[in-house]
Amino acid sequence: MTDITAALSALKRYFGYDSFRAGQAGIVEALLAGHDVLGVMPTGAGKSVCYQIPAALLPGVTVVISPLISLMRDQVDALNDIGLPAAFVNTTQSPDEQSMVFQQAAAGQVKLLYVAPERLETPRFRSFAANTTIGLIAVDEAHCVSQWGQDFRSSYLGIGEFIASLPQRPPVGAFTATATERVRHDIVNILGLNNPAITVTGFDRPNLYFDVIKLETKRKASWVAHYIADHPNESGIVYCATRKETEALAATLNQTVPQLRAAAGVGPADSDPAVGDDAGAAGEAVIAVAYHGGMAPDARQNAQRDFVTDRVPVVVATNAFGMGIDKSNVRYVIHHNMPESIEAYYQEAGRAGRDGEASRCTLLWNDSDIVTRRRLLDNDYENERLSPEEQDIVRQSKRRLLDGMVGYCRTTDCLHRYMTSYFGEITASDGAAGAGKCGACANCEHTFATIDVTDVARAISRCVHDVNQRVGSGKIVKILRGSKAQDLSWLNPEQMPTFGMLSGVNEARIRDVLNQMAVDGYLYIAEGRLPIVMFGRRAGETAAPDFHYEIKRVEREPSAKSRNV
Ligand code: ADP
Repeated sequence: MTDITAALSALKRYFGYDSFRAGQAGIVEALLAGHDVLGVMPTGAGKSVCYQIPAALLPGVTVVISPLISLMRDQVDALNDIGLPAAFVNTTQSPDEQSMVFQQAAAGQVKLLYVAPERLETPRFRSFAANTTIGLIAVDEAHCVSQWGQDFRSSYLGIGEFIASLPQRPPVGAFTATATERVRHDIVNILGLNNPAITVTGFDRPNLYFDVIKLETKRKASWVAHYIADHPNESGIVYCATRKETEALAATLNQTVPQLRAAAGVGPADSDPAVGDDAGAAGEAVIAVAYHGGMAPDARQNAQRDFVTDRVPVVVATNAFGMGIDKSNVRYVIHHNMPESIEAYYQEAGRAGRDGEASRCTLLWNDSDIVTRRRLLDNDYENERLSPEEQDIVRQSKRRLLDGMVGYCRTTDCLHRYMTSYFGEITASDGAAGAGKCGACANCEHTFATIDVTDVARAISRCVHDVNQRVGSGKIVKILRGSKAQDLSWLNPEQMPTFGMLSGVNEARIRDVLNQMAVDGYLYIAEGRLPIVMFGRRAGETAAPDFHYEIKRVEREPSAKSRNV
């Protein structure tokens, strides 16, 4: 039997699947042939199978290195259920329990052994590894090795040394959903992968319709309520930035959606037939439940259960919602705020349409989301063990991730193409200079008007010069509009040549151009509690006599109702 035939038969025997998904077969084959592999696939694409099948077929034990102790038990239980003997060793166990697992693994009774990276440094594990046949090492969430990714873990830095210390080096499979060039480079180098087969796949999700809508904060809740009211019998997730927001928005939706439906002649009984009696007050349809990490475990489980079993159509959640939740018929994911990175957005939005049916991912954003995110960059250190230099690297990398997200919000190009090219995947539609409409994103449907904003851009640039790159965008706008606000007096703005230069241009337009200039490299907004507008690498161009600057803005939006999603 060839490797791939054996792999297919194991796939059928253990998992019940008839065929491999894109990318899986190549990875499995390479690992079985003893090669290292880097597999880059989005969450849900099926990375686990890529090492679980080789684990079933290779001699010895497969060591799976995973950062999430909380998920190990579920993963291991699921494998044992399908007949693949698996176990974990982690800090939730007593020393006796741990010894037992090591003995079983050494005796060949365990095919997959899950451990956190910290475990690799312990003498007990080292001696186990030196005396046991390890058929394969699988590194899950491999991007944690890179300071350029979003979840850097210093404990991942020791994995390469551990692998090198083994008396017989097994093939190594590294897996991640984060695929930027730098992160990929770090994974290969820091883990010490040996000429790995790199597979990047599955990022394009043609059944997802992507839409980005710039909306003032105070109009967002109403937009969400209308969308939900117009889509009865559909299941959806609304992501918010804070716990408080999830509760407030869920309450608003429960009040306004039934009113909107009643006004449109859609009764609550028709709209949510699946809502059970215990989902809310008798006879009242509960539209939305909140979900966040601060809720009591019971309340959280109830909210999750009500959503997953279709008792309640909508969950309004923080990013705590999603890990390990498998619901295939989510028809829409709405982001009420801009996430911190394309990686985070893609993962959350990607929870729509797992069943392959047409589904919609809408991102609502505005310029204040960007300000909030930039502020957070300055004080958001989950890992306090980092040295100041490391913190700086992490801050810079988070900034770059945020820039990618802002770019997505502001691009007028195809949103599918933006996403796949961000993840480094070449798709069929990338040919012919990427021309052609994808048919599944708002940007390909919109008509854009080109607006000449050369004078506005030039004035902004001069104003940044006038204030010596010392203030934030709010003050720049005020000065350009000739504001007499008290908080400007220390700057003596009346003396500046740019004071009042744009008094005839509205504030939103100036902000819009300023932020676009930051995306295009003319300006640089330094993060911090009070973000400051500085010159970007292309700042000099704005002073050139032939400088010309245009922005494209939506001229006519197709109405939400007229779309087929
Ligand atoms: P990831 O680790 O990439 O997030 P998983 O390995 O958890 O994804 O797989 C996601 C889902 O897809 C699981 O339910 C898994 O059983 C399923 N799956 C994986 N491979 C296949 C396949 N070849 N055919 C059908 N379903 C698959």
